[in-house]
Amino acid sequence: QPVIGVLALQGDVREHLVALAECDVLARPVRRPEELAEVHGLVLPGGESTTMSRLLETFELLEPLRERLRAGMSAYGSCAGMILLATKALDARPDQHQLGAIDMVVRRNAFGRQVDSFEADLDFTGLPGAPLHAVFIRAPWVESVGAGVEVLATIPDRPEAGAAAGRIVAVRQGQALATSFHPELTGDGRVHRLFVEIVRAS
Ligand code: GLN
Repeated sequence: QPVIGVLALQGDVREHLVALAECDVLARPVRRPEELAEVHGLVLPGGESTTMSRLLETFELLEPLRERLRAGMSAYGSCAGMILLATKALDARPDQHQLGAIDMVVRRNAFGRQVDSFEADLDFTGLPGAPLHAVFIRAPWVESVGAGVEVLATIPDRPEAGAAAGRIVAVRQGQALATSFHPELTGDGRVHRLFVEIVRAS
């Protein structure tokens, strides 16, 4: 059985552990380098990316995590986790660390202050069944992607989407997956199962 860690410094840790436990894997919180060394894949949860970036340093996880990602460990970042996995984050503090596992530029809090939180039904490439109901909370969007990045979902082009229409909100590059939204909050296990498949295939 694969062992999948959830970076447990801050944010939606418990919800991801629960969602993963339903996917027939061993799910564990990761706070220390020794714990990171034991997992086959890692979820970087939503929360606050500036805080998580600082805590990665404090807990001496930043360099070990960079190394594992360079070596091809599977990773899934949701919301703040997506921001950390990017090569570059706009509207972030200049000292925020970027893990660079996905060749993309993201924009923090991109959907604007007036819509702190919203929901949308997404067509998500590779997920069977109905559109995916996605919850966005002070979410980033993906501003641009490099040639090796597969776009899996965008905000549907409807009048109510306004300036957000067409924005990229889910991507994959090799072993790394990221979503702007929070599948751990909706009880729909499909995104977690997709990540577990990526881990199993590696
Ligand atoms: N706005 C947060 C950040 O910039 C992300 C929000 C979230 O993860 N729900 O890190």
